[in-house]
Amino acid sequence: MNTIHFTNLPGDGIGTEVMSVALKVLEKTGKAHNFSCETTCHDVGGIGIDNHGTALPESTLKACQAVDAILFGSVGGPKWESLPPKEQPERAALLPLRKAFELFANLRPGNLFPELADLSPLRSDVASAGIDVLCVRELTGGIYFGQPKSTRTLEDGQKEAIDTMVYRSGEVERITEVAVRAAALRGKKICSVDKANVLETSVLWRQTVVDCVKNLDPTIELSHMYVDNAAMQLVRNPNQFDVLLTENMFGDILSDELAVICGSLGMLASASLGTGKNSTGHPYGLYEPAGGTAPDIAGQGLANPCAQVLSAALMLRYSFGMENAAQAIENAVKETIRSGLRTGDIAQGGTAVGTEEMGNAILSRII
Ligand code: NAD
Repeated sequence: MNTIHFTNLPGDGIGTEVMSVALKVLEKTGKAHNFSCETTCHDVGGIGIDNHGTALPESTLKACQAVDAILFGSVGGPKWESLPPKEQPERAALLPLRKAFELFANLRPGNLFPELADLSPLRSDVASAGIDVLCVRELTGGIYFGQPKSTRTLEDGQKEAIDTMVYRSGEVERITEVAVRAAALRGKKICSVDKANVLETSVLWRQTVVDCVKNLDPTIELSHMYVDNAAMQLVRNPNQFDVLLTENMFGDILSDELAVICGSLGMLASASLGTGKNSTGHPYGLYEPAGGTAPDIAGQGLANPCAQVLSAALMLRYSFGMENAAQAIENAVKETIRSGLRTGDIAQGGTAVGTEEMGNAILSRII
């Protein structure tokens, strides 16, 4: 029997409530798919500040370095909002983790189950088909990090600000490789999004993606789209896309657009993959729900555990290469939604169950 090693960092607010469901789901999935979980729990975020004086305690980082993946909850809350921005839980925990593990690839699956179509702001005839799109975003390059970056006062008294968009072919190659691997497990289609009619970085991006896909897997159907058109197409007909591959800023915007058309934050998972391979030969990764700590419902047992559970499925898929086990979890969530069970965020005024009941329903459907 395989043993998988990961840390679980529940964080703050609803983090602990939904993490405990995800851990039970992983354990049950292991029994059905012949693996066991070895995991330790560590403080991160606000609770890290309270217990150790810092959002990412040294002991937490060390524990993460000793395993193959991180299952992350969410961090932050009103208690820590008056701290200086640099010390705030999200920034002081997630940014150093991204840096420490060189997490350069952000994967955000946009899934809307047809049963939840009414949650989507899209027209009902579009949403009723459901949505299943994966956004693969480059996370460490582009205009957010390019140098020079400055603001100065000109001779005529105006102020001038400069950001620089830089991409090197190696950065494009490694994110394309992630997209190709992900597409191979899905519909084998990649749409690469750029602005190659205007930007030099996009011309390089497009050429590199073409060469890379040809080398890695010529059976992948590759298309290209300008980012303004992609933003439109995503609301017009999201299911024309299978994998959307794009650079940092475009991905920031498109992945949020994808999240909102999919309805509830409580349903959306995400993965951030690193440059290094873990001890199983797969990418090291950090897996977390798209939402935050939901202070408005924290501590009441009302949170939707689906996003955390689906994050655990992504961890099995990308950091441990366990596709069947990942699908078993995803199917259990799908069947639970199909059965009509709803937490408050997706109940639309109807009867809602709590975190535990939703979790037990998912558990009972793991096969
Ligand atoms: P939020 O995502 O926590 O909440 C927004 C709304 O979505 C709330 O009404 C909340 O109840 C609901 N929601 C989110 N997840 C849910 C779930 N699983 N089940 C049911 N409802 C859910 O965003 P916010 O209110 O802007 O932020 C609250 C705190 O979370 C802040 O301190 C913020 O910094 C932090 N945050 C952390 C992360 C992270 O850890 N990656 C991400 C976003 C926000």
